[in-house]
Amino acid sequence: MSDSNTPTARQKTALAPDLRTMPDRAARAWTERMAVRHLGGADYAIDSQSGATYVVDAREGTCTCPDATIRGETCKHQRRVALEITSRRVPPPGKRRADCAACGAETFVPEASRPPALCEACNLDSGDVIRDRETGDRLVVAAVTDRRADEVTIEAADTTVADYPTNEGYPADDLVVEVRYLADAASGHSRTYSFPHSRLQRVDDAALVDA
Ligand SMILES: [Zn+2]
Ligand SMILES: [Zn+2]
Repeated sequence: MSDSNTPTARQKTALAPDLRTMPDRAARAWTERMAVRHLGGADYAIDSQSGATYVVDAREGTCTCPDATIRGETCKHQRRVALEITSRRVPPPGKRRADCAACGAETFVPEASRPPALCEACNLDSGDVIRDRETGDRLVVAAVTDRRADEVTIEAADTTVADYPTNEGYPADDLVVEVRYLADAASGHSRTYSFPHSRLQRVDDAALVDA
């Protein structure tokens, strides 16, 4: 997992623009060589072509350069930060770069979020209704843990989640998700069960399969 909160030196680069109809400041946001680093929150440091380093607050719309502080302009640094956020070269405000703990894809997750980091496709929230791919049962997500199927023991069966017979074929290093049966949840039973992440199917996806 890479951590965008650790500012690392980045090579100054120009982005590829179509400049003909652009105002000067907008054009320079594209063409000048700048390096943008996310400092955390909404703050970004910009090493400018001139050699100076400025800090942009992308939420407040401020920059420490003279153009912004003295002339009150939306400067090329603010524009460049917006461009780099849009093109996913840096995390948006309040997010950090992470590798999804389920599929490995690079993603942005809230800075304050606890592990596991999950991409949009793999993310399950507590309370989501999902489907067991094996039985079709409807389940409710209690929690996505950061533990792997071969690390979690199912006490009643004296085996790990990975070795549990109906979990055969799912990865041993699958994340373990704690779920409740929808029928139990409705009747007030609070018992949770441990499932491998990839055995669970979102119901919006499941509805398409059923149709
Ligand atoms: Zn500026
Ligand atoms: Zn993922």
